[in-house]
Amino acid sequence: MKKEKIKYKSFFSHLKKTYSYASKKEKIYLVLFLLNALFMCGVNIIVPVISAKQIVYLTDSLWSELIFITIILFACEMTRNFLMYMGNKLIGLYYLGVKSKLQLKLAEETLKIKTEVMNENSSSMFSERMGQDVTSMTDIFISLIHYVTSFITGVGVLIAVLFLNRTIFVLYVVFVIALCLTEYLRAEKLEEIRKENRKISEEVSGFSTELVRGSKDIKLLNAENSFISRTKKEVDRLNKSDYNQSIASSKFRLVNATLWDSLDLFIVIVGVMFLISKRISISSMLVIFNYRWQIITISYDVQDLIESIKKYMVSSERVFDIIDGIKFKKEKFGKTHLSKLKGHIEFKNVSFNYKNGDDVLKDINFKINPNETVSFVGKSGSGKTTLFNLISKLYTSKKGEILLDEVNINKLDKETVRSNISVISQNPYIFNMSIKDNLKVVKENASDDEIISACKMAALHDYIMGLKDGYDTIVGESGVTLSGGQRQRLAIARALIQNTEIILFDEATSALDNETQGKIQDAINNMQGIYTILIIAHRFSTVVGADKIVVVDDGKVVGIGTHEELLKNNDIYKKLYELELKK
Ligand code: ADP
Repeated sequence: MKKEKIKYKSFFSHLKKTYSYASKKEKIYLVLFLLNALFMCGVNIIVPVISAKQIVYLTDSLWSELIFITIILFACEMTRNFLMYMGNKLIGLYYLGVKSKLQLKLAEETLKIKTEVMNENSSSMFSERMGQDVTSMTDIFISLIHYVTSFITGVGVLIAVLFLNRTIFVLYVVFVIALCLTEYLRAEKLEEIRKENRKISEEVSGFSTELVRGSKDIKLLNAENSFISRTKKEVDRLNKSDYNQSIASSKFRLVNATLWDSLDLFIVIVGVMFLISKRISISSMLVIFNYRWQIITISYDVQDLIESIKKYMVSSERVFDIIDGIKFKKEKFGKTHLSKLKGHIEFKNVSFNYKNGDDVLKDINFKINPNETVSFVGKSGSGKTTLFNLISKLYTSKKGEILLDEVNINKLDKETVRSNISVISQNPYIFNMSIKDNLKVVKENASDDEIISACKMAALHDYIMGLKDGYDTIVGESGVTLSGGQRQRLAIARALIQNTEIILFDEATSALDNETQGKIQDAINNMQGIYTILIIAHRFSTVVGADKIVVVDDGKVVGIGTHEELLKNNDIYKKLYELELKK
């Protein structure tokens, strides 16, 4: 009981929040829709009276009256059609504004969610919320107006029946209560099933996304059979849940339909008894009979309304979970704004762990000067990428201090961090757009000259010019039509256009051919001395040219120096170097 109360309390607060997404214009559309619906109520009450008269005139052979009343009925029906059209148009206009705004807000807020939280959830979960859930949320005002006005019609008609015949009024009330009860039970049962169904649907859609994204690897792993049997399991699970939902609903609808048919039977029996004893006129009886749909819909409306509210609550909770950032924690930034960083980076006693596990970085200390090129070397898993994750603020260190231009990174605002640092990962994300548009994502107004000179510096221009569509070539989802080396060079060009002072570069581990490797090295050489470049280097050809090398081992910095210095004084570095020479 208590649970329900809290739910309805939060229903109104969610409703208020959702309403705040409607602009003044959209609020006017809603008011007009309400007026339109009320007008429709009036028409719905009048039409059964007119059609009853029509039958009476027909049976009494009153031809001119019949034609007159039929014209009135025609006018009422025309009005109803027009009102219906207007209602749909107003809903459409309202939808257009509110839904887009909610979706946009959701997209904005999704991009603010912490990386670790994103990693823990499937991407399809977020897209489902942006689609289905926003639609259910936007629906609520329309549903409220629809059900409430329809309910008003039902009650109005019920009162009219009370004046026409009290016994039939009682009969109607008893049936309405019985129908309300079954509808209530149906809504209760369906809520549980629906929640479960949405959860399964999110999981299955996450799985299908993985199946499509990973299709290349599935083929190469020859793992089709295992994926097909998993697909069968997932699809069966969802379809079974859909089936359970529809069967549960149908069971209750079956009871309702039986009640509904019994009501018809009872009204006719009671009506005939009253007609025989002349306690009711034929036209009143016809009106009462014609009204039965409006009265019965009271029960459906009440329950559909409760159901809409529940559906809305499920969706709005899921959407506001993202927007409010309580369940899905957002990235936190400080307030200090520095328009252009010089490129000074310092780690002071920094330790870090993922999800409260063991420290993967332990008491890290180093300094990097502006425009230096610094290589980070160390075994896989030693903590190099984690260092980059902290500098780019994808994660936040819990112990120690990271200083950018001598300011604690946690005090800097988002703009300072993200517009001054770019990251070129091993497998950078390339969007399914043209090469030019992929470059423009970081600077919408980048000129052609800027784009070309960045691509020249990234040693990519010649390759692009060899393509049929040049810079307008579409690169496919995740840049599939590009090689690993080309994707990295495109990301380098993107960083150059963004013109960030600090560039973090995670060199690809995959074996690149000598020519590609040489081109990436050319791109780095072109940038050296102009930007502060930090490279996670997997090849010593990249390491040797650096101003400074940081050796990382088991989460600790075990040496800093030039290649020659480290070869002399650092055993771990020497071993790594010798290992590569052997290869
Ligand atoms: P490197 O870049 O030197 O190969 P990483 O920084 O990627 O090393 O990893 C350092 C350690 O942190 C590894 O033990 C790795 O398993 C762990 N690690 C990396 N990313 C995550 C993550 N998102 N969640 C939990 N542990 C992680």
